[in-house]
Amino acid sequence: MMSSSCNSPSLMAIDDAKTKIFQLIKCVTQTELIPLEESLDRVLSEKVFSNINVPGFNNSAMDGYAFRVQDLIDLKTLNLVGKSFAGHSYPKALGKGECVRIMTGAAMPDGADTVMMQENAIVDGEHISFTKIPEHGNDVRLAGESIKKDSLVGVKGKKLCASDIGLLATLGCAEVRVYRKLKVALFSTGDELLRAGDTYQSHKIYDGNRPSIIALLTKLNCEIIDFGIVPDDKTQLRNIMQQADELADCVITSGGVSVGEADFIKEILAEIGQIDFWKIAIKPGKPLAFGRLPNSIFFGLPGNPVSAFVTFNQIATDALKLMSGQELTPPQILRAISTEILRKQPGRTDYQRGRCYTDEQGQLLVASTGPQGSGIFSSFANSNCYIVLERERGRVQAGETVNIQLYDATLT
Ligand code: AMP
Ligand code: MG
Repeated sequence: MMSSSCNSPSLMAIDDAKTKIFQLIKCVTQTELIPLEESLDRVLSEKVFSNINVPGFNNSAMDGYAFRVQDLIDLKTLNLVGKSFAGHSYPKALGKGECVRIMTGAAMPDGADTVMMQENAIVDGEHISFTKIPEHGNDVRLAGESIKKDSLVGVKGKKLCASDIGLLATLGCAEVRVYRKLKVALFSTGDELLRAGDTYQSHKIYDGNRPSIIALLTKLNCEIIDFGIVPDDKTQLRNIMQQADELADCVITSGGVSVGEADFIKEILAEIGQIDFWKIAIKPGKPLAFGRLPNSIFFGLPGNPVSAFVTFNQIATDALKLMSGQELTPPQILRAISTEILRKQPGRTDYQRGRCYTDEQGQLLVASTGPQGSGIFSSFANSNCYIVLERERGRVQAGETVNIQLYDATLT
């Protein structure tokens, strides 16, 4: 029987924790109008409708000849009367038996309904015939066939990607209305922490959490307010926590949330704000503090680097996306066969780091990246997915099927 505190039923399930957090967070409401060119990774704050047809006019999909197909069927040979180049249309309507030379993207002349590519044309001076009879409407791009006027082209809450920007650009959209960026303040806590670049000192360690959390926040396109490293001093911690709260929508710390004698974060949170809970059935990462400060919401990530990173990915990321106004998309969960034994005790949902791949039969397999301790950050090296082992599940044998969660865009 498991008897460790890890199996405590008082731990909150990760899904319950996320549901509670989502109820308590406040989403950004302020919006701004920004140039489309600067809108990558920003979140649309309103629906966007097309105010034009794309294409705006019937045009040719080929370099060739435009005509009325019935004339070709009747007469077999057509008279060349002019040309229509992209941006420069043929000015008149086509008469009976007439055709024009037309280039890709050029407007179809009035009266023309069909295009034949030039490779199929037999040109004899002004007399044009073809090696085959096309179908009506051949190689004509109809007005509105890509986007209809008044159709929905941008959904509120969509984080704009390169193809969204391309689509809006084809509509002549110069500016988009987006939510302002979420402001996130962060600091690491601990007397033992050195900054990268500091001379190494015995009994100290380099701060691994702040740079990795800054990188994740950058991927989430947040405005980052970095308060650096704060020592395990209650007065200083309270002071910085208050400053961070005044400036940010969300404050994120790492370390100091456990039950050690220098773990002040929970006390301070209780004094100046409120702790909503702080123990979650997740491994790595059990001691996660969530709470509310007067102006912001608060995540106290565990100190161990793997725990801090995993709890940020699995819990804070979705909260920050929602606060940014973003629609959530569920993670990609696939079923894979474990190639080896995975150590696990029942009690907490485990997010082990794995590498998935397909074998020659196309079967999806997953291998562990090695030791999974919460201080072993190298377990992320060469990983491309989380192996998500259910809360009550025990050790996994080689050949058993497991759920894997592919890394999303914030992790690649
Ligand atoms: P704590 O929760 O503050 O007791 O920290 C738990 C463990 O994580 C300790 O071994 C700390 O030294 C370590 N730790 C805390 N913060 C960091 C950090 N920013 N970077 C690397 N390790 C850390
Ligand atoms: Mg500490």
